[in-house]
Amino acid sequence: MTDDDAAAGDGAGFNERAAALVAEMTLEEKAGLCSGAGLWHTKGVERLGLPPILLTDGPHGVRKATGRGAAGLAITEPATCFPTAVALASSWNLELLHEVGAAIGAECRDQGVHVLLGPGLNIKRHPLCGRNFEYFSEDPHLSGELAAALVAGVQSQGVGACLKHYAVNNQETRRMVVDAVVDERTLREIYLRGFEIAVRKAQPWTVMCAYNRVNGVYCSEHEPLFNHILRDEWGFDGLTMTDWGAANDRVRGMAAGLDLEMPGSGGVNDRRLVAAVRSGALAEPILDRAARRVVALTLRATAAAPAPAADYDAHHVLARRAAAESAVLLKNDGALLPLAGQGSLAVIGAFARQPRFQGTGSSRVRPTEVERAFDAIVKLMDPAATLAYAAGYDPAASELAPALIEEAAQLAAGVDVAVLFVGLPDAYESEGFDRRHMRLPAQHEQLLEAVCAANANVAVVLTNGAPVELPWAHRPRAILAAHLAGQAGGGAVAALLFGHANPSGKLAETLPLKQTDVPADPWFPGVGRQVPYREGIYVGYRYFDAVGAEVAFPFGHGLSYTRFDYSDLQVVPVADEPGAFEASVTVRNVGERAGAEIAQLYVHHRAAHPHRPAQALQGFAKVRLDPGEAQRLAFSLDDRAFAWFNAATGAWTASGGVVEIRVGASSRDIRATADVALPGEPATEQPPHPLRDGQFAAGSFEAWLGRPPPAPEPARPFHLNSTMAELEATWLGRLLRARYAGAFAKRLNLANMDAATRRMFTAMLADMPLRSLVLQSRGGVSFRMASVLAALADGRPVAAVRALTRTDGAIGRGGKL
Ligand code: BGC
Repeated sequence: MTDDDAAAGDGAGFNERAAALVAEMTLEEKAGLCSGAGLWHTKGVERLGLPPILLTDGPHGVRKATGRGAAGLAITEPATCFPTAVALASSWNLELLHEVGAAIGAECRDQGVHVLLGPGLNIKRHPLCGRNFEYFSEDPHLSGELAAALVAGVQSQGVGACLKHYAVNNQETRRMVVDAVVDERTLREIYLRGFEIAVRKAQPWTVMCAYNRVNGVYCSEHEPLFNHILRDEWGFDGLTMTDWGAANDRVRGMAAGLDLEMPGSGGVNDRRLVAAVRSGALAEPILDRAARRVVALTLRATAAAPAPAADYDAHHVLARRAAAESAVLLKNDGALLPLAGQGSLAVIGAFARQPRFQGTGSSRVRPTEVERAFDAIVKLMDPAATLAYAAGYDPAASELAPALIEEAAQLAAGVDVAVLFVGLPDAYESEGFDRRHMRLPAQHEQLLEAVCAANANVAVVLTNGAPVELPWAHRPRAILAAHLAGQAGGGAVAALLFGHANPSGKLAETLPLKQTDVPADPWFPGVGRQVPYREGIYVGYRYFDAVGAEVAFPFGHGLSYTRFDYSDLQVVPVADEPGAFEASVTVRNVGERAGAEIAQLYVHHRAAHPHRPAQALQGFAKVRLDPGEAQRLAFSLDDRAFAWFNAATGAWTASGGVVEIRVGASSRDIRATADVALPGEPATEQPPHPLRDGQFAAGSFEAWLGRPPPAPEPARPFHLNSTMAELEATWLGRLLRARYAGAFAKRLNLANMDAATRRMFTAMLADMPLRSLVLQSRGGVSFRMASVLAALADGRPVAAVRALTRTDGAIGRGGKL
C-alpha cells in the first residue's frame, strides 16, 4: 500500500493498483483519461480493462440523462426528488442528511451512476444568488457538517460524492469569468471552512472546481486552492474535476492539481497536455498523478458488488419525512396552527395544486411522483368540514391578475380559516442568473393583502428557495416556510398544518428585513468582471449581530407546537487537550406535544482582538422529546472553535482571552451562557475593526486584503475570456453572438424546453466566454481562430493577423494569448 492509500484509508489499495495500470499507459492514453468522453462519462482504457464511469447531477436526487448528447440534456431517468439543500439544511439533522444521502446513493447504484455531482456548499453570501436553493447556509460550520453527513450517506452505498463548487462561487452573474476579490482571512474562515470540515470528516471521493476566479486566478488552475490547501493541508486524496466547461488553461490547471476536465473537449486539451509533456512545459509525473487519480476513482467506483434494486416507494416516504423536518414555522400567533380540520377552510394559491418543489438548472430531477398539498389536505380534513379552493395566481407567471385576487378574497371572507400558498415562480430561481429583487411577485403580495383583509385567520405557506422580503409578515397569523421541499413536500405541509407532524426546522440563514440591509448588497454582484468581498467575514448573522440590526427572522429561528426549556449549562476543559472544551446542557419538553428541538451553541469573544463576529455557531444538536421528557445534550469544542485565521502568519491562531459560550433556541434566543478562559496570550496586532457605526469603514477592505484592491478590468481589448455579452459592444461581436446563439439553441434543442430552462440557457449564453466556443465545438473552432475572432471583433486587424500566424500557445491569466 502506498502512503497515499494509507492517508485515504484506502484499505483496498486502489491507489497502488492505479499506479500499476498507469505505468502501462502511453502518454496519449494518460492525457486522454484526464478528460471526459461526452457529457457525463470518463473514458476508460479498454485494452487495460478499465471501464468508463458515469458522473451525474445532483445534489438532491439523481439526474441521469437518458436523452442523447446536449439536445437530450433535459431528458432524465425518474428518481426521487428529495428536498433541495435550502430545505434539508433547515432540518439541522445530520442523521436525516445521512439517510437522504444513502437513499440517493442507492438510486445511483440502481441506475448505474458512479459519482453524484453534489452536494453544493457555497456560502449564501447574498439572498439573490440564483443557486442559493442548492446551497445549505450562510454559516460555514453548519454547511460543512451537513455536507459531511450527506457525503457520508452517499458514499455508504459505494458511490462517490462530489463537493462543489470549490470555491467562492456565490453568484451566477458572470460566473464563468468573474473575479472574486477576497482577503485570506475571510477566505479561510467563511468560504473554505465548510469545505474543510466536509473533506476532513467525510473524505469525499471527488471535489469540483468553481467556474469563477479567486483573486485573479481561475479556480480551475488555482494552485493554492488545490495542491496546497485541499491536498497538503486537509489531506484530500480523491479526484478533482472541473465544473462543466470550467477549464481555462488546461496545462496550468493540471499542474495546479486539477485532475479531470469535464466534459470532454474532443481531444483539444488532451493534445495540449501531450504537447506540454513533450516540450517539457509539464512534468510527466504530474500527468501520471492525475491519471492515477482517475484510475483509482474508477477502481473504487466499480468495486462494489451489484446492489439490490432501490426502493423508490420507501424513498418517497423518506422525502416526505425530510420535507416535514425541514419546514420552518416562522410565526404562529395565538396558536392558529395546528388546524383542527373542522369547520370551513379555504385553500388559496395555485402552488397548492401545482406545487413548485425544486429549482431550475443542472439539479433538476424528474420526480417519480408528486404530492399536491391540496390533495393531502382533503385527506386530513374531517368529512363534515367544508373545503374550497381558489388559484389566486398563475403558478408559472407573475403578471397581475386582479380577477383571481378578487375571487380568492371573496372565498376567504366566508370561511373560518384560509391557508394561503405563495412564493416564487419557477422562472425566478435558477442556475445561470441571479434574482433581480427580493420581493415576492406583486400578484402574490397583493393576493396576500386581499386575503388577510378578508379573513383574520390566515396561515401562509411559503414556497421559495432563497429569502424574500416579508414586509407583510405582520398580516397573517401564521407563516410556515416550506422552501423547495421536493416531490413529497405537499404531503409534508399538510401533515404540519394539521399537527400530524410537529414543525422542527430552523432557519439556516437570516431573513433580513430588506435587501439593502444585506451586508454584501452594495457590491453584489460586482462591477464589470470583479466582485469585491468588502464585507469580509461579516456575512449573514455575523454582520447583523455585530451591528445590532433588526431582521425579519434571525438565523436559527423556528417555532414548534410545543415548548422547550434549557437548564444547567456546563462547560469543562478537556483533559490533555489545551483549548478544547466539552459543553452540555439539559433540554426539556415543557409543552403538551412530542416535538424536536435544535439547540445551538455560539461562541462570543468578550474582548476581541483581533475583531470577531459578535458570535459564531460552533455546535448544534437536534433532539426529539416527548412531553415532560428531558435530555442532556453534549457539544465538543476543539481549539479551532475559538481560532481565527491570521493572514500574516498563514496559520489558525487560538489566542487567549475570555469567551462566552451561548446556548440557545436561535441566534437571538440565547437561553444559557457560561464563561471560559482560553489558554495563551491575547492577540494584539491586527487591522482595525472594519465596522464603525454599522458601516464598513473606508479603507478597511484594503487593510483586510493587505494590498490595494485590483484595478477594474477593462472589457476591451477582447480576449479569449471575453463573454458573449461583452462582445456585443461591436457589430462583429453581435454577429458572432447571434450565430453562436443560433447554434447553441439548436444543439440544446432549446425550443422544446420549458420557459424557465430556456431563460437559464439564454443567461448562460450571455456569460459564456469565447474560449467555450473552442471547447464546445470540440476544436472545430481552434484557440487560434477564437483569438482571431476576438481581435477582429475588437477592430484590431493587425492583432488578428498576428494571432493567425502564432501557434496555439498557453492562455494568459486574463485569457489573452
Ligand atoms: C454546474 C454544476 C453541474 C454541472 C454538470 C454545471 O453547469 O455548475 O453544478 O454539476 O454543470 O451538470
